[in-house]
Amino acid sequence: MSDSIRVTVWNEFRHEKASPEIAALYPDGIHGAIASFLGEQPGIETRTATLDEPEHGLTEEVLANTDVLIWWGHTAHGDVSDEIVDRIQHHVVLEGMGLICLHSAHFSKIFKRLMGTTCNLRWREIGEHERIWVVEQGHPIAAGLPAYFEVPQTEMYGERFDIPAPDTLVFVSWFQGGEVFRSGCCYNRGRGKVFYFRPGHETFPIFYQPEIQKVLSNAVRWAAPNGGPAPTFGNVQPLENVQ
Ligand code: ZN
Repeated sequence: MSDSIRVTVWNEFRHEKASPEIAALYPDGIHGAIASFLGEQPGIETRTATLDEPEHGLTEEVLANTDVLIWWGHTAHGDVSDEIVDRIQHHVVLEGMGLICLHSAHFSKIFKRLMGTTCNLRWREIGEHERIWVVEQGHPIAAGLPAYFEVPQTEMYGERFDIPAPDTLVFVSWFQGGEVFRSGCCYNRGRGKVFYFRPGHETFPIFYQPEIQKVLSNAVRWAAPNGGPAPTFGNVQPLENVQ
């Protein structure tokens, strides 16, 4: 039994197989890159799972041993089985597993399920510059970050981002082309915590950036279950004598 936070990094793992350029950028897959830097953090242990594994690598046993699930998907959201989405939702809402959805995972089945909105947005892919501002300095996910940091080349995501208002908004992005975007959004869903983080387009080396790695390691610690009490529901007897 370990006290470490157990992280499962999930990736659809399709771009890396289809594009030599993306494979060169992420030779072990985006999941491999993320699991590698997170696994070097004290108190964090990682495993990976991908779409084409049986049950997408997310068996009941894997999820029961996952404190935080990280999700990267883009072209194959529709290939994720609804049964697995139900299973993840159960683990987040009822068991308190943390969920971190990255970049194009705004359109993943599990994120849309947990948000209840379209999660649509405006986008443009011309390799422009992004400046990410910390707007909630005291939040655990902002620990150790500067007031702002930059992604030199990225895909733009612009508002309106059709999400419910976050419980806490930690980051706002500005793009060279003029748009802004809510880039770091925290939610409580039942017992679980959900964090959406915008950067992470597959054709740029974004997951090698120290600030991005810092955000993700902070987010893992924030999203991990805190051992709070499980809720009870239904008809109950009074705790005091009220007769
Ligand atoms: Zn993208």
